[in-house]
Amino acid sequence: MQRIRPEDWYRIRHLDDGVTFIDEPHIQEFYRCNIWHVRGRDRDMLVDSGMGVVSLREWVPEVSERDLIAVASHTHFDHIGCHHEFECRAVHEAEADLLAEPTRINTLADPYVTDEIFHSLPPEPYCSQCYAVKRAPATRILRDGDRIDLGDRNFEVIHTPGHSPGGIALFEATSGILFSGDILYDGPLIEDTYHSNAADYVASMEHLLTLPVRLVHGGHFPSFDGERYRALIRNWLDEKQT
Ligand SMILES: [Zn+2]
Ligand SMILES: [Zn+2]
Repeated sequence: MQRIRPEDWYRIRHLDDGVTFIDEPHIQEFYRCNIWHVRGRDRDMLVDSGMGVVSLREWVPEVSERDLIAVASHTHFDHIGCHHEFECRAVHEAEADLLAEPTRINTLADPYVTDEIFHSLPPEPYCSQCYAVKRAPATRILRDGDRIDLGDRNFEVIHTPGHSPGGIALFEATSGILFSGDILYDGPLIEDTYHSNAADYVASMEHLLTLPVRLVHGGHFPSFDGERYRALIRNWLDEKQT
């Protein structure tokens, strides 16, 4: 399979509200994590950091120019691969041990990571059999209700266990923007990992439904508006009840 040059690995798109969308287009869509960069007055926020097969700091200037807090929506391999590149790292307390001691099993790299998840391979010396996430112990532990303050912007941590025990969403009340991680996006949701929990998942969805969300940037697949958000949650909850 063809190898991609590091400078061509990431795709960067500037959106409204100081939000930048970064992704890895050479990974197949289902496995491809959305990386979100939010510009603040005093500091920036990164939500997730991709698979870690090419340096984010080296090739994406947006994440290396200013003071930045790298938040993990949760600790599956596709979301935390470059966290070790950042000095300031935040994760929910329920997955702090995973960010500190990632393995191929506990990050789900095993069984998901094979050459088949790529359209084209990352640059040398990448190999799917040797792929592993580097350890990146958190410098800040997050709990439900905590706030991430960027100076002029403020995101509330919403604990959303279910997909994984330490999953979080980040909600900015003034803009109605929600970074939802993997608990909810506009595509097939994963509810059966080794640390998923069905009852937690339902409770998280019910809680998310109460938020006045206007725009959702999820862990995978394209962003969507508040109407779609509420429809996705209601349909999901309806299916659980029948
Ligand atoms: Zn996940
Ligand atoms: Zn994911």
